[in-house]
Amino acid sequence: MRVDSYRLVLALYVASIAPQALAGTDTAQSHGAHVHGIASLTFALEQQQAELMLESPLVNLTGFEHAPRTAAEQAQWDKTRSLLQSGQWLQLPAAAQCRLVSHQLDQPWDTAGHSHADQSHADHADLQLSLSYRCAVPQALTQVAIDLFRHAADLQQIDVQWVGMQQGAATLTPAAAKFQLSQD
Ligand SMILES: [Zn+2]
Repeated sequence: MRVDSYRLVLALYVASIAPQALAGTDTAQSHGAHVHGIASLTFALEQQQAELMLESPLVNLTGFEHAPRTAAEQAQWDKTRSLLQSGQWLQLPAAAQCRLVSHQLDQPWDTAGHSHADQSHADHADLQLSLSYRCAVPQALTQVAIDLFRHAADLQQIDVQWVGMQQGAATLTPAAAKFQLSQD
């Protein structure tokens, strides 16, 4: 089940990137680029299974982009990690009866022992979160609302790509933090 989930999300990524690559546009502008203030989210619904992947520069969520160095940064990271993994920043219609079944949050910064010869690389860190839901009534999953902006002062925009019976894209901001899924 886990492998199929990732395959589904991966297929979505490929679908979003391939047309740009074929058009010969700058790959730095492709999905998942590290731009402060902007995060990307993919949402895939297949039968009763909903898969979400959030990618964001770490700074958007914590205000820093390195392993926590102080007690305050550690506390901030613990709070951020806990919120993200809980899925409580994601509001799905109650009628869909979705239940979070698994989560995976990759450590965003380099692990100890890594050579920091490339300082430009060390200055940035990306966070990647995967959440898997099982929804008893997936046809009721018509809208997804994000309650993340108020927890992430430096987050200004989330670029969404979703796929279900149909597929689409949306740009979320603090003033418009939800998107619709067409189920027709
Ligand atoms: Zn950065």
